[in-house]
Amino acid sequence: MTGTAIRLSGLSKTYGDTAAVDGLDLEVADGEFFSMLGPSGSGKTTVLRLIAGFERPTAGTIELAGADVTAVPAHRRDVNTVFQDYALFPHLTVGGNVEYGLKVKRVPAATRRARAEEALAQVRLEGFAGRKPGQLSGGQRQRVALARALVNRPTVLLLDEPLGALDLKLRREMQLELKEIQREVGITFVFVTHDQEEALTMSDRIAVFNAGRIEQLATPVGLYEQPANAFVAGFVGTTNLLDGAEFAPASSGITGPVAVRPERLHLGTPAGGTQSADGVIAEVVYLGAATHTVVALDVGPTVTVSQPNSASAHLAARGDRVTVSWRPDDLVPLTHHTRS
Ligand code: ADP
Repeated sequence: MTGTAIRLSGLSKTYGDTAAVDGLDLEVADGEFFSMLGPSGSGKTTVLRLIAGFERPTAGTIELAGADVTAVPAHRRDVNTVFQDYALFPHLTVGGNVEYGLKVKRVPAATRRARAEEALAQVRLEGFAGRKPGQLSGGQRQRVALARALVNRPTVLLLDEPLGALDLKLRREMQLELKEIQREVGITFVFVTHDQEEALTMSDRIAVFNAGRIEQLATPVGLYEQPANAFVAGFVGTTNLLDGAEFAPASSGITGPVAVRPERLHLGTPAGGTQSADGVIAEVVYLGAATHTVVALDVGPTVTVSQPNSASAHLAARGDRVTVSWRPDDLVPLTHHTRS
């Protein structure tokens, strides 16, 4: 990574009483696959629209490749956007759709054709130029939409839930493919999603949004393994929230809330160096690859334990008494305050 593709400083956007974006500071590096993850209404799309220039900020600045573009209109910014409803022209061929933007810019026909072919190859649609959008699958149409953006060779591509209209299987395939395409073309991608699994799969870094602000900015591993607070711990994956004063070893000095992932809890006889608590199984949920066992601990809280369904998995039933154990290192201390 060589430089900063996008820098947002003190960025705010207010609609009436709603602070859709609330004093955001953010840097995205050149060539990064950067995701904005958060629940509906947390401000992700507004940030994307501000970067694209479709909205003007109430306060703050936007820099692209080091230049302040806050007052620059959308069509003069070196960014392109791919939306969920990709809105291809049905009467144009795939090639015609991909070339369209270049035609508007009066790029000569031969150059247009060559660049459209290159863009279609980048999204693995060689040989599709002559088809109509109606003759394509949903995933192929989404790739045409991507080619239509790539053909402009933007330095930044903004993607607003681009896989949202696809079914789960295709969505998972496209996630891997999109990541591969991004690596090949080397363009900075800013990807908006409310799907944590999607963000974890594709991103170099993820910003977790809540109420117009970033709760945490980290790599997928960092977010999952070291969530900063209860909001992030609960939004990214499933987690058990416990009182550190009760569950962390006294020597750790942890007195606030701690998070522990279900797969870091174990059923059965505790191994050396682990802590444990007894309880009664309240629920056993079979999930194919894993089983989630919900245990009501004698000391109060209920925890979920995830075990892979390997041959050696501990078999237990509702109502059984069990011991839950964990390594003290797997308790992650959280900050007390989550923004409301
Ligand atoms: P997300 O993309 O995370 O779902 P949005 O950026 O779309 O969130 O919205 C953030 C907040 O701003 C929401 O409360 C939404 O209702 C509000 N908002 C977004 N766009 C507008 C608009 N054009 N007019 C009024 N309120 C808006």
